[in-house]
Amino acid sequence: MSPVAIWAAPLVFVCAAQAMPLSAQEEPAIVDLPVRQVAPGNFVHYGSFEERSPQNLGDNANIGFIVGSKCVMAVDTGGSFAVGRALRQAIRRVTPLPVCYVILTHVHPDHFFGAAAFVADHPQFIAHKNYPAQLAARSRSYRNSLQRDLGEAAAGSEIIPPTVLVAERLQIDLGGRTVIVRAWPPAHTDDDLTVFDELSGTMWFSDLLFVRHTPVVDGTITGFVAVMKELRALEFDHYVPGHGPDDLPWPQPLDAQLRYLTVILDETRAAIRNRKTIQQATDEVGLSEAGHWVAFELFHRRNVTAAYAELEWE
Ligand SMILES: [Zn+2]
Repeated sequence: MSPVAIWAAPLVFVCAAQAMPLSAQEEPAIVDLPVRQVAPGNFVHYGSFEERSPQNLGDNANIGFIVGSKCVMAVDTGGSFAVGRALRQAIRRVTPLPVCYVILTHVHPDHFFGAAAFVADHPQFIAHKNYPAQLAARSRSYRNSLQRDLGEAAAGSEIIPPTVLVAERLQIDLGGRTVIVRAWPPAHTDDDLTVFDELSGTMWFSDLLFVRHTPVVDGTITGFVAVMKELRALEFDHYVPGHGPDDLPWPQPLDAQLRYLTVILDETRAAIRNRKTIQQATDEVGLSEAGHWVAFELFHRRNVTAAYAELEWE
């Protein structure tokens, strides 16, 4: 795993009750965001597995960029304005080309709160057709919890609405490099996008794929399993997960995630059949998976709760 970005800049803030843009003099130094070129023209920053904090600035998701001969595409922007700025600086270290597109892979704040750092580039902000409705329902609580967790380090973080919505599939030419943005049926969320760089054969799964980090179900568990079976049939040379490293040979990470979700699915169905309460289900379901995943305590019970609520009415 790459090291967590450390907040080293002096803290000069007047009022951070609400996330708002900073004037130039108040802006802290841009943190250094390590990126790795996983395939020609595809650069990934690996987020931290730690809980969001002022120290890691909400740098929890894998984010990155794809460079064509005319344009750059950012794939997610990180969990705060500070991370977004750091990503933009990482792009500038690689190329002076304009950032024409920012992909908002889904509505989770660890992936999108850095988007404000790209507004001055006037890119197209691309999201799933279901994204705006989810954003409208969640934006207030997302802002509040970011402020709670990051405090002053949340400064500048904003929710940027998409300018382009994808219903099925969008083909984008970055200059000598065609990228396919694909919208999926409800799975991890109801607004998941993947990004595929045809030239290098690199598949950016975002949170349709968790490696080592406990998978999260915030859409539908049956849908997630169905989509994963489709993902398994895709052909590509490199993969980028939404969380975790890319060091396992394909399809091991996909199969591990599929096993986790299937265990929850089967055991939750059995719990419902045996008239167990939701409390009993969350205490018992899926414990055989505990040793396989990081941050299990943090996410697993929530997954079982979501699965129970979904499967109860089958
Ligand atoms: Zn997510």
